Parts: sequence; structure tokens; C-alpha cells
Amino acid sequence: MEKKKLSPSTLCVQGGWQPKKGEPRVLPIYQSTTFKYDTSEQMARLFDLEDSGYFYTRLQNPTNDAVAAKIAALEGGVGAMLTSSGQAANFYAIFNICQAGDHFVCSSAIYGGTFNLFAVTLKKLGIDCTFINVDATEEEIDQAFQPNTKALFGETISNPSIDVLDIEKFARIAHKHGVPLIVDNTFATPINCRPFEWGADIVTHSTTKYMDGHATAVGGVIVDSGNFDWEAHAEKFPGLTTPDESYHGLTYTKAFGKMAYMTKATAQLMRDLGSIQSPQNAFLLNLGLETLHLRMPRHCENAQKVAEWLEAQPQVAWVNYCGLKSSKHYELAQKYMPNGSCGVIAFGLKGSREEAIQFMDALKLACIVTHVADARTCVLHPASHTHRQLTDEQLREAGVAPDLIRLSVGIEDANDIIADLQQAMESVK
Ligand SMILES: *Cc1c(COP(=O)(O)O)cnc(C)c1O
Repeated sequence: MEKKKLSPSTLCVQGGWQPKKGEPRVLPIYQSTTFKYDTSEQMARLFDLEDSGYFYTRLQNPTNDAVAAKIAALEGGVGAMLTSSGQAANFYAIFNICQAGDHFVCSSAIYGGTFNLFAVTLKKLGIDCTFINVDATEEEIDQAFQPNTKALFGETISNPSIDVLDIEKFARIAHKHGVPLIVDNTFATPINCRPFEWGADIVTHSTTKYMDGHATAVGGVIVDSGNFDWEAHAEKFPGLTTPDESYHGLTYTKAFGKMAYMTKATAQLMRDLGSIQSPQNAFLLNLGLETLHLRMPRHCENAQKVAEWLEAQPQVAWVNYCGLKSSKHYELAQKYMPNGSCGVIAFGLKGSREEAIQFMDALKLACIVTHVADARTCVLHPASHTHRQLTDEQLREAGVAPDLIRLSVGIEDANDIIADLQQAMESVK
């Protein structure tokens, strides 16, 4: 099948697994840690990266690879790697090109877990991060760059502040400084936005969210566009452009060309750090992907109705949904996601934190869960839940108001969702 010419809908259903004669029609779960060879020499060649093939599921597994291939095709990339979580995906995406003494620049409008990883844990490994406002001017972002800066990072639509990244602008700035733009595309999904088409170089996802869509399996993915020219900035990326002693002096860019970044991530980071996605979870993720193109439009349609309804309620202090004309990012959302953005809405109620809690406790259909971007409508108060570790100042930096309620609109009937919100609001009055 010529995948490049197929539409995203077809790729969701049929991308990835391509059975040969007599093989299972449905992607099988290769529930095996290990793979058999006939000679010692065959196995040795795999370990030297001279042949490609499976030998141990910590590095690669056929079920995972089929799902990774589907996601790579959906994003328009050259290759992808599944990870055990979105956190692992973002860690590897950075760690694959940054080491102790390096630095990267990041939009502050990002997921709380990613903020902690970048601001606290990577710092302990000697990798520094400068956060910039998602709406910062080009000059302000330029000023955050240092001689040791190796990447620029942002989220297409930020969780939970629903800010939209100006991908083209960020890509231009990254490339001006000779570094790749890494975009976490979790909320938009490749159905609504494909960041590579706007100049991004590497895309990550928490597949736990819309891609799985049914809240069954935690997972992540890294996708490479294959477009960034590591050799042109060889001095910045010695891990890719100079010999790897742990692979007998092999140089990834010379041996693998456009696949250098993905091969290093798989052969070196996965080998040494683990965090592979289990084949079981990859199978569940694939089931979710088969309907992603049907679910996303419904999430967006429902969220638009709910956001418009919320905006008209006297008890509601503010609503932020990038599909609303009142959103400061409406124009950016129209540019990058003309067919819809995502199902997640941020809003605040008038009154104190107490009212927000009463409202959430009164909801019946929408459940309070840590999860987001699920088929079932769910709700969360980041300041008390996911972003608990952040100080008030860090909350403000991440665009998370203390009264922000994150409403993840599911694919139920929009009228039922609105009726539930209405009864909960009336119970607070
Ligand atoms: C949830 C999330 C993550 C972290 O993913 P996990 O699968 O929970 O590890 C990263 N980025 C974004 C935008 C997310 O929403």
C-alpha cells in the first residue's frame, strides 16, 4: 500500500499492520520478549545494527512497530517509537539530543507533568530549560537562546490552559538558531493538526489521551519528520554526528541518514533506559487509533456546543476554548486547526474556589478523574489535582488560573452533557 497518498481516515483504519498471505487480518499481539535466530552470526549482526530485526522486546517488538508505523504515517514522519507513557516520550525526545551542560527553550504553556520533568528532574541531570511565554515575541524568544541551546519545545494546544502554539513562528525561530522544534501534539492529534506541515521537526504524544481514547492504556510516542539536518549543525549534536562507543564507533547520521534520531532513540535510549510500551498496550492503542478520525470531529463538535453554552451562563466568569471567537488564540486555531481543535475546555466560575468544588461534586455524567481526552466527559481542577506541586507563580506561568476547571468533553450526546452541567450549576446557586 502506498501510504503517503492515503488520507488520515484510511490510515487510522488500515495504516501500520500489513498482513502477508495467511497472516492474521487483525494486528496480533506479539507477546514474546524474545525472537529466534538460526545462527549466532545472524544475532551478532543485529546487535551491531548491521541488520534490522527483532531480538528483544525492550528495544523493538512487531506489534509496537506496526502501531508506530501507523502513527508515523498519520503525522507524515519517517519513523516513530512507542514509549510506555507520554512522560517517557517527552523525556526521550529531549534526552536524545541533550546531555549534561546543555539547554533548551520551552513554552511555559505545557502539561504540569512535563513542566516538572523539564524544570526539576532534567535539571538534576544537568540539562537546563528556559521557559518563555507562548505568546512571547520573536525577539523575546531569541533572547532565551544560549550557545548550548539544543531544542525548542511547545504543545500544539496546551494542557490545561488551551493555548495554541504558533508552530510556524516557533519553527522559524528554532531553525534560525540551528535547533529542532519539538511539538507535543497530544490534544490536537494528527487528525486536526500535523505539525510537520508547519515546520516542526519532531512530534510527541501522550497516546494515553485521544489516540487510545478509551482510557485503557498509558502510552506515548515520538515521531521524527526526518527533516532536521543534524549534520549541518554537527557541533551541537555530537550524540548523532560522532561515533557512539557503545555501538563500536557507529555514527547515527552516517549509518542511518533521515532515521538517525529515531535509531539512536531506539538503539541507545531504549536499550539503556527501558520504558518500552507493552505489546498489549500497543494493541489497545491501535484499536483506539482505528476510530480516531471519527471521534475527534465529535469531540470538537460537542466541545464547541458546550463552550458556547458555558459562555452564555451568568455563573460563569470566563471560558477559554480556542474554537470560541472570544479566545485570544481563535485566529491561530483557525489557521492550524480549521476542522476543529480538541474537546477540552478551560473555564472558571464566579465566586470562590468553594463554588468550583461544589459544582464539580454535583456533576453526575461528567466524572472527576485525573484523565483527560477520553470518550467519557470528565472534569478536573488542576490547582487541586494535576498541578498541585506547582507554586502560584508557576501556575500563572503555565497559564493555569487557580479557579480553572478543565472540562474534557466526551462523545456522548451534547444535550446530555449540557443538562448535567446545568443541574450542577443550579445546585451551587
Ligand atoms: C498527559 C500528557 C502528557 C503525559 O503523558 P502520560 O501518558 O500521562 O505520561 C504529556 N503531554 C500532554 C500534553 C499530556 O496531556
